[in-house]
Amino acid sequence: MPLLLRESHLHQLLTMRALIPLMEQTLAAFSAGGAVQPLRPVVPVDAHRGFLAVMPAYLVTQEAIGLKAVAVYPDNPARGLPSHLATILLLDAPTGVLLAVMDGRLITEMRTAAVSAAVTAKLAGRPVRTLALLGAGVQARSHLHALREIASLAEVRVWSRTRDAADRFAAEMRERLRLHVVASGSPRDAARGADVICTVTSSRSPVLEGAWLEPGVHINAVGAARPDWRELDTDAVSRSHLFVDSRASAVAEAGDLVMPVRAGELTEAHVLAEVGEVFAGMHPGRTGPDEITLFESVGLAVEDVASARLAYEHALARGIGDNFSLE
Ligand code: NDP
Repeated sequence: MPLLLRESHLHQLLTMRALIPLMEQTLAAFSAGGAVQPLRPVVPVDAHRGFLAVMPAYLVTQEAIGLKAVAVYPDNPARGLPSHLATILLLDAPTGVLLAVMDGRLITEMRTAAVSAAVTAKLAGRPVRTLALLGAGVQARSHLHALREIASLAEVRVWSRTRDAADRFAAEMRERLRLHVVASGSPRDAARGADVICTVTSSRSPVLEGAWLEPGVHINAVGAARPDWRELDTDAVSRSHLFVDSRASAVAEAGDLVMPVRAGELTEAHVLAEVGEVFAGMHPGRTGPDEITLFESVGLAVEDVASARLAYEHALARGIGDNFSLE
């Protein structure tokens, strides 16, 4: 009988410590041809400023097949709802039998930051002491949790569109994590001298400018997962050594790349490699301490399916979750 795994179950089943190496292995397998993953279809719901994306994948080595349906409604936080709501179906690869239905919201939250942490561990040019977060929502929180796993953070600066949101985030994280977390008055102030910058906003226009970037910084650009959304100006992208999660997805979906390419300011050849190629040893990644490295993340179905498979295996082993029947 299939398992129903709620968000409360997944909190017990998944940790950043387990997800970070899993994301590294999954992306290495993806870039080495070990997965089947079409470009995700997206259904715009313009009347409500939202969209629905359907993300299927088959991970050949793990015999994992599944799909995530994710609804993205950036105005939801004002209604007291999460901006991202998702459900994952996990199937048995040899037979297609349904193994589990599970919450996909928490998996989206965690796996995205776990990917950024794995990439940061590989691409950052120096020990990560100072972190700048542009954005103060779910991904900002998750990125802070994930980056703590791979770095010894001395200072965290957070900027957000709404000053109050940044202040609340800083106060909550200081209290909860006993870290030096401060709110910055501008994205430029937050970014100054940072070892790593994470852009985690739903912005449609740049919040990070190339003119502010200092040698050796590493950037995780996470928010611009649609072709008409962007967080970085063209200068920031063109000054950077650009890595992506999937070439096919990035050139179709990452507004930070799609918009400058459409404007004739950059070409797709600016993409150096997939991070999976770096994880698999097929690309050297950073080659000098002063390079500016940029990871453009759009989020991949393989990340969801691998995380769901791990949660399912732990759930079976620990007797967590509720059985249900569709018969
Ligand atoms: P939240 O809704 O929790 O937070 C959104 C953040 O973006 C808030 O800090 C908000 O600022 C800020 N923001 C919203 N609109 C704007 C705007 N027009 N200009 C500047 N800032 C804005 O979302 P998440 O943290 O879950 O997601 C953040 C981004 O990451 C989204 O774009 C999302 O689609 C993307 N994402 C990418 C994934 C990937 O795999 N690459 C996976 C999951 C999410 P404030 O509250 O101060 O107003």
